Amino acid sequence: MFKRILIANRGEIAMRVLRCCQEMGIEGVVACSTADRESLPAQMAAQSVCIGPPPADKSYLNENALLEAAKRLHCDAIHPGYGFLSENAAFAEKCEEAGIVFIGPSANIIRRMGDKQTARSLMREKGVPVVPGSAGFLDSVEHALAEAEKVGYPVLLKATAGGGGRGMRTAFDASEVEKAFSEAQAEAQAAFGNGALYLEKLILNPRHIEVQILGDKKGNIIQLGERDCSLQRRKQKMLEESPASCLDDKTRQAILKTAVKAAKAAGYYSAGTVEFVLDKDKNFYFIEMNTRIQVEHPVTEMVTGVDLVREQIRVAAGLKLSVKQSDIVINGHAIECRINAEDPTNGFRPCPGKINFLHFPGGNGVRIDSALYAGAEISPFYDSMVGKVIVHAPNRLEALRRMRRALLETVIDGIPVNTDFLYLILFDPDFIMGKVDVSFMDTHMDALLKYQKDSEKKADK
Ligand code: ADP
Ligand code: ADP
Ligand code: MG
Repeated sequence: MFKRILIANRGEIAMRVLRCCQEMGIEGVVACSTADRESLPAQMAAQSVCIGPPPADKSYLNENALLEAAKRLHCDAIHPGYGFLSENAAFAEKCEEAGIVFIGPSANIIRRMGDKQTARSLMREKGVPVVPGSAGFLDSVEHALAEAEKVGYPVLLKATAGGGGRGMRTAFDASEVEKAFSEAQAEAQAAFGNGALYLEKLILNPRHIEVQILGDKKGNIIQLGERDCSLQRRKQKMLEESPASCLDDKTRQAILKTAVKAAKAAGYYSAGTVEFVLDKDKNFYFIEMNTRIQVEHPVTEMVTGVDLVREQIRVAAGLKLSVKQSDIVINGHAIECRINAEDPTNGFRPCPGKINFLHFPGGNGVRIDSALYAGAEISPFYDSMVGKVIVHAPNRLEALRRMRRALLETVIDGIPVNTDFLYLILFDPDFIMGKVDVSFMDTHMDALLKYQKDSEKKADK
């Protein structure tokens, strides 16, 4: 087993990995930018190392600084968390070359599955249903128009390097293709340094269903049930659940089986997620695979009892998975809410600043993953997600009630956060009935926001 792991990330996921290291008797060394010197993971770690100034490209994306730090501090492995370098095949390769284990799949697997268009081709070849779409990349607007004509409108132009909902634009007819093309391309070029696009048929108001996979280097691949991540704003997940209450048994088994087939086709190992969209007629289509730990992994941990980060570390060290498929039993229901430093009543504007007072919920079935503490500074340089509240209960209704009370107990003073807005969602009749597809926010947001704004106005008076 590893003696020392360099944690090449920040915030709640750095804490998550650090906690796991502590429990496994591994020393976690936290790599941080100068903006994060006082962060919770930097303070809690036995050792932290500064890898550069605040902008991510100079620190958390600074491959050489990270590798140098890992070598100098005698780390035998690097955990990349999510975002940043977690799906960067070149970095995984550099780690391999430097004799440092990258905690994730191999560079070749990342290349195969991390690039969306490449993954789509492989999946189609292996008989995994993919969304109908272009065969390859779109060379020009004319090419996009021709492919859209073949596929049929509406279509979604997508960046092959995309992530976090960026680099994606819809076109409902030919007149919208040129604008969608240039916008998606420019956004992807700026965000990922790769503007290559492909297109898919736009599935109307689907659900987002994804399957958690674990594999080891001995060829074992198992699934740990599914998550419903349909509640999204601008294609970014806000709230996630496991299991997906909308699935009948037959569809669930089919999706789980297909996800394992997809992972096997990729020769996958480590933790990974196979994402699907599910249409109104229960047809499901592969959209992408995330070759890393995901933000919403705790809901799966709550219902299966499996520590996914621990398995990820064990597999990277060459060990067998500690669980078999027959050990995986889904127990009850879990919900996660993403807490963001943002102002929903002001266009969800990110709101960095200082935390004056903080109180997190507790009690039975409540888990908090966060790096917040009273006095912490939320930096403007990074993602606005500052924590996750996760609840577990015997069934969905009880989980929902537990989440309501957990959010009521949550006090974050000093900066605007989205907890009131999340709380309101938990009272929406459609949400309660599980009538949630990816268009939920388009159809419900205005009413929920109006209610929140009106209530705040009354409180001010
Ligand atoms: P998840 O699939 O785990 O829910 P998200 O899409 O919410 O992941 O992304 C998690 C974090 O990682 C966000 O901060 C997002 O901006 C970042 N991220 C996701 N994919 C990429 C990528 N390809 N490149 C850079 N950052 C990414
Ligand atoms: P990212 O890499 O940014 O996570 P995904 O390909 O996973 O991108 O898609 C993100 C979200 O966009 C999905 O959860 C879904 O809401 C929507 N989406 C993606 N592809 C399609 C599609 N073909 N039709 C309809 N919605 C889609
Ligand atoms: Mg995705």
